Amino acid sequence: MQFVIKNGTIVSATEMYQADVAVADGKIVAIGKDLSLEGYDVVDAAGKLVLPGALDVHTHLAMPFGGTISSDDYFAGTRAAACGGTTTVFDFILQDFDEKMVDAVKRRDALCAPDAAVDYAFHVGVKDVSGDLLDSMEEAVEFGVPTFKVFMVYDFGVSDGVFYKVLQKSKEIGARISVHAENNEMVNMLVEKYISEGKTSAWYHYMSRPEFVEKEADERAISWAKELNAPLYIVHLANKGGVEAVTKAKDEGYEIYAETCPQYLHFTNEVYKREDGRNFVCSPPMKGQESQDAIWDAIIRGDIDTVATDHCPFQSYEKDWGKDDFRKIPNGCAGVENMYPYMLSMANKGKISFQKAVELCSENPARLFGCKDKGSLSVGKDADIVIYDKDKEFTISVDNMHSDCDHTIWEGAELKGYPVQTYSKGRLVFDNGEFLGERGWGKFVKRSLK
Ligand SMILES: [Zn+2]
Repeated sequence: MQFVIKNGTIVSATEMYQADVAVADGKIVAIGKDLSLEGYDVVDAAGKLVLPGALDVHTHLAMPFGGTISSDDYFAGTRAAACGGTTTVFDFILQDFDEKMVDAVKRRDALCAPDAAVDYAFHVGVKDVSGDLLDSMEEAVEFGVPTFKVFMVYDFGVSDGVFYKVLQKSKEIGARISVHAENNEMVNMLVEKYISEGKTSAWYHYMSRPEFVEKEADERAISWAKELNAPLYIVHLANKGGVEAVTKAKDEGYEIYAETCPQYLHFTNEVYKREDGRNFVCSPPMKGQESQDAIWDAIIRGDIDTVATDHCPFQSYEKDWGKDDFRKIPNGCAGVENMYPYMLSMANKGKISFQKAVELCSENPARLFGCKDKGSLSVGKDADIVIYDKDKEFTISVDNMHSDCDHTIWEGAELKGYPVQTYSKGRLVFDNGEFLGERGWGKFVKRSLK
């Protein structure tokens, strides 16, 4: 299939310019003014923006958590992604105890490959580094999975000692560690305290994981990374103190990266006072206004590198398990379909530039995570392309989303502008509200950080 997108305005992380984009065999083959190519169909993008597809480097598809499994499987999650202009989805695989890292990747890939509607990649969530399992990280790197995550919380989280070892190993083998930073001891202590006082509403989910619980862990994680001079990526950064620690480390020249999520940019902890507060329960929780302002400031300064979603939805009946006990609420919300439209809408409303939205959602994630064929519109890259209508008004509702989840925390959010088409490797997978993709179209993206 060959076509040329004509008369649109191309957006990169650094510029906006008028040019046509020609696509053949799933790749971008030419960019220029007034391209006229024999045998190419024409897609008219006059008045529209033409953007690289987004990469969501943080999702949990079909993830076992809190006695259930997150409600979007590989097909539903990647379908929702396509409909929100995201053309590469990263999933976290949790290593089993006694399992080699590369075996975790192969186990998961066998399950996912038949169902993905857009390209996908993996990170391994590290649980067990006993025996030769630490060394097995290297095979995963060779397989195309050079990024690993450690959790400082949850029953599958790792000790500081394991975290240190994994960081050290990552430096040796050209890998990079991501970290979910919250202080486990403090969370457990505060949960116990509030429960014993009979304080069980969703608000106490926030109260048991407030700003300082995340800040302390961010600082601790950064201090191990500095000690080893190893690169470190902090996922879903949501608090002001953590932002300050990241800024300081960057200023000192350390390779510390930070990701935040749209839910921390749009909502504050006030949502936990709502009747449906449990639907907003995720970890880390949304914080106060001061933290939200600090994250936006860091985005504008360039101290936040990426925006990703932590997409991990659960159905209403599952969220309802914790109506009277916040401990029983599965942690996570839907977001994969909302990230790019939300960030682009914030650009359209003047909060950031369109270039910044592209940098945070596409170019930086592609570069930082070693997706060499993604992240910008340039000749030779995959034709992962979004056509965006700046003038389209869009109100998010569960009825116009494409996830399998039966509600969305974004219900009623009003966006200025919306994607009208998404192409995955040259194939139209989303057209004016409708999903046109198919299972199995998405392929594993082999990555390297070298
Ligand atoms: Zn997550």
